[in-house]
Amino acid sequence: MYKISQDCTGCGKCREECPSDAIQPQGDVYVIDQEACTKCGICEDACSIDAIFDE
Ligand code: SF4
Ligand code: SF4
Repeated sequence: MYKISQDCTGCGKCREECPSDAIQPQGDVYVIDQEACTKCGICEDACSIDAIFDE
């Protein structure tokens, strides 16, 4: 299960890269809709500050 930590700066890069449109802004950070997520891992590679992790 991929998750976004509170380290997220809200840059939006992961959202641009997600092929399933599963990442949305929520306040100052982004969150992953686990029902829409296909666990492809693209967002983890896209985040330059490693704020996305596979739990
Ligand atoms: S790429 Fe990383 S820092 Fe940018 S919005 Fe996504 S999780 Fe946050
Ligand atoms: S693992 Fe893939 S489908 Fe899930 S949020 Fe990241 S980029 Fe989107």
